[in-house]
Amino acid sequence: MSLTLAIVGRPNVGKSTLFNRLVGKRLALVDDQPGVTRDLREGEGRLGDLRFTVVDTAGLEEATDDSLQGRMRRLTERAVDMADVCLFMIDARAGVTPTDELFAEILRKRSDHVILAANKAEGSAADAGVIEAYALGLGEPVRLSAEHGEGLNDLYSQLMPVADRMAEEAERIAPETDVDLDEDEAAEEGAAPAITAAKPLQVAVVGRPNAGKSTLINKILGEERLLTGPEAGITRDAISLRIDWKGTPMRVFDTAGMRKKAKVQEKLEKLSVSDGLRAVKFAEVVVVLLDAAIPFEQQDLRIADLAEREGRAVVVAVNKWDIEDSKQEKLRDLKEAFNRLLPQLRGAPLITVSAKTGRGLDRLHDAILRAHDVWNRRVTTAALNRWLTAMLEQHPPPAPAGRRIKLRYMTQAKTRPPGFVVMCSQPDKMPESYTRYLVNGLREDFDMPGTPIRLTMRGQG
Ligand code: GDP
Ligand code: GDP
Repeated sequence: MSLTLAIVGRPNVGKSTLFNRLVGKRLALVDDQPGVTRDLREGEGRLGDLRFTVVDTAGLEEATDDSLQGRMRRLTERAVDMADVCLFMIDARAGVTPTDELFAEILRKRSDHVILAANKAEGSAADAGVIEAYALGLGEPVRLSAEHGEGLNDLYSQLMPVADRMAEEAERIAPETDVDLDEDEAAEEGAAPAITAAKPLQVAVVGRPNAGKSTLINKILGEERLLTGPEAGITRDAISLRIDWKGTPMRVFDTAGMRKKAKVQEKLEKLSVSDGLRAVKFAEVVVVLLDAAIPFEQQDLRIADLAEREGRAVVVAVNKWDIEDSKQEKLRDLKEAFNRLLPQLRGAPLITVSAKTGRGLDRLHDAILRAHDVWNRRVTTAALNRWLTAMLEQHPPPAPAGRRIKLRYMTQAKTRPPGFVVMCSQPDKMPESYTRYLVNGLREDFDMPGTPIRLTMRGQG
């Protein structure tokens, strides 16, 4: 099974930049391969634990005359026909152009799986373009910055189900051709698609060495094995574990396992930092695992802050709770320290667990699901604007140099994490404190604890 992803879109939107990011130095290509012309580059792509072939239609110049338009169309069609999934890229800064619309039309007709990516989406200048992209009728756009490596997690989330589906199809075909399969195995094969049908929730367990990450993951795996029998629904690979934890399909990034495996080759410290970083990038929910004896160390704070800045849902789990004597008191101290040291994660759940005994793991499981749910939340524009009106009455915006800032209108531009745009006058004069007032209000009033909330002020015209 090998998945082929074609990156298509008009010139200059950033296709090569993404291609290079996915392929890195593993460029396998070239023009002497049958079926691949010089216009189509091909490479071996990687995204998290996914391996696939990437086809890039770069190397075109802007289509100014008809012949070039035609060439672009033919090339795109060829790429589309080669691919299992098309990544259709637009430039969110430029917004949707007529050429983009032409591409969208080709793709709607010709491709089964299209992932729409709004690139160059770092910063707020891209917000309008991202919103426009919805109108292409190709689903929710992935907000991407190929240059800065942002949004790759969302790309992964969209690619993963297609890869899973292909794997299932391969499995479904396999029993018919494999005559040696005994009954037990056949039953398992048949059951597999049902387990893997839902998209797994991506979770990273991060924390300083010895916090108990391996113990925690093994405990979860152990429970899993008891419940479902050896190996069912579990596939172990280099980076992530595919598990079904209490009936929830999850993909868990196992940084501890990776570190232990790689210990011999690389400097431990360096690797564990970059592992954590990588895990955060690909996770939807980050579980920051603390050691109750030494909580909120510098390294813990750094990774929790990174998770927030990367826009991940965060659950803080305090491990080794079994050896804690004065639990009440300790919990109070922990909560105080949490609020003081990580104000940016206000409202994030703090769960006490023992990876060793398994206590608290039910609550951890539920907290992960809830955090993921909040992270995906969408608030209607009508509700937001009713809310905004009330907030403005309660506490009017400031009037720098005698001119009151007017907040006119607000909308949710994205989810995962929730991102909002407020149209206003003098956006650059808006003080941080007022933005914080609104963010905290959103968190309270729409029940969004523990997720980063992005709020962008934008001027009109
Ligand atoms: P292609 O013609 O579609 O393959 O586009 P390229 O990958 O050659 O990129 C075109 C231009 O956009 C280059 O100058 C890139 O550096 C720039 N670019 C690509 N991705 C991004 C991004 O995420 N943000 C910004 N600001 N620029 C980008
Ligand atoms: P990692 O480096 O984060 O993967 O940490 P490990 O899982 O290897 O655990 C480090 C040490 O802490 C080991 O000696 C574990 O047995 C111990 N440990 C892990 N979880 C718990 C726990 O919940 N309670 C107690 N008492 N010890 C634990």
